[in-house]
Amino acid sequence: MKDRYDVLVVGAGPAGSTVARLVAREGFSVLLLEKDRDVGTPVRCGEAVSNRSLESIVDVDPRWIAATIRRFRLVAPDGSCVEPDLGGHGYVLERRLFDYDLARMAVDAGAELRTKAYVDGLLADGGEYRGVTISLNGERRTVGARIIVGADGVESRVGRWAGIDTTTPFRDMECCAQMTLADVDMEEDACEFHFGTAVAPMGYLWIFPKGHRTANIGVGVSGAAAKHKSPIRYLNEFVARRFPRAGILTTVAGGVPCAATLEDIVRGNVVLVGDAAHQVNPMSGGGITSGMHAARMAAEAIAGALRAGDLRLLAAYPKEWQRSHGAKHRTYHRMKEAVYRFPDERLNAIAAGVLALAPEQRTIWGVFRVALMKHPALVWDMAKTFGFSAFH
Ligand SMILES: Cc1cc2nc3c(=O)[nH]c(=O)nc-3n(C[C@H](O)[C@H](O)[C@H](O)COP(=O)(O)OP(=O)(O)OC[C@H]3O[C@@H](n4cnc5c(N)ncnc54)[C@H](O)[C@@H]3O)c2cc1C
Repeated sequence: MKDRYDVLVVGAGPAGSTVARLVAREGFSVLLLEKDRDVGTPVRCGEAVSNRSLESIVDVDPRWIAATIRRFRLVAPDGSCVEPDLGGHGYVLERRLFDYDLARMAVDAGAELRTKAYVDGLLADGGEYRGVTISLNGERRTVGARIIVGADGVESRVGRWAGIDTTTPFRDMECCAQMTLADVDMEEDACEFHFGTAVAPMGYLWIFPKGHRTANIGVGVSGAAAKHKSPIRYLNEFVARRFPRAGILTTVAGGVPCAATLEDIVRGNVVLVGDAAHQVNPMSGGGITSGMHAARMAAEAIAGALRAGDLRLLAAYPKEWQRSHGAKHRTYHRMKEAVYRFPDERLNAIAAGVLALAPEQRTIWGVFRVALMKHPALVWDMAKTFGFSAFH
């Protein structure tokens, strides 16, 4: 390990490994630091992604795919089930392999990687940061860098150290509990999303099959609801009802920042990507591919700034993020706020309205159209997000 690099990336999740790979590929020296002993574990994730979003950011290795999802079931509080045609398909990943391979690909591209490397501070030098302090295998070290990338996930501290306000409002922090169950009886190409105050207030419960009769089953509820009853209690109750004989392979808990993206994702020579920058889709809680897309934008701006020797060029990254995702995410956030306020009766009425449509009209737009009829205030946000043509 050298004393100084062009770029130092904190965190070897999908976002960090992607930045490291793409910057290293441009010939710059990159050090990727991961605090855990193994890249890719523990997995705190439902592991579901859309095929289109994943395939547009990386060449997909079939080993990463635990299941291909062709059907999406939305289950209303009264148990009625709508299965809209979403047009594409989804994958449930094997993130242990996926994260591991993304990090390996970064190394193949020329980045250096150290695990058990806990970054615990930035080295300040006037208005800039000239490196980080690390506890590496228990030993204290400092490493210098021209640019520091905080890809340190939901628990991110790099941004805070750089003076960025990284607070997630309590209501926007989705508190999650998830189990991977064995011997579950369900169709292996269908995801389920359950809604309602009894299963997941201000959030949803998911069932994502992973093949071989295993599945990820999790609950995410807003921090505002979790203080009254924890997500693990909702999950235990659901699992006892639905899968009483299943074996529990893993249980994890974690948070998802379902807020709009942070105002500042670049400060001086510090750049934030992925969960650290709150780049999760606030409506779905999915952050794997959106973090990787942000990582690509960040990598392009970093390479440009290094080539020109001008840190001001880093500003291209927030600009591109706002153009491609940021404004959309703000709208998703407002829509989530509206949907959170839907009482169970309205969710049941939407399901009934969709089931009354002809089968060929039960697309995601069919669901939206019915939701709009029940809650016209959503119309402006949806029009802004998807364009008016979608409603014709
Ligand atoms: C229960 C649950 C279910 C989810 N389900 C889905 C889903 O189905 N689909 C989806 O798209 N998203 C899902 N998400 C969200 C998804 O997991 C995250 O959005 C995604 O992992 C973010 O990637 P990232 O690279 O930004 O951060 P992470 O994957 O969190 O990686 C950050 C890395 O930084 C390391 N790190 C942190 N601090 C330091 C430090 N000081 N020094 C060194 N290393 C450090 C961490 O150990 C970690 O490896 C879920 C999240 C949860 C909690």
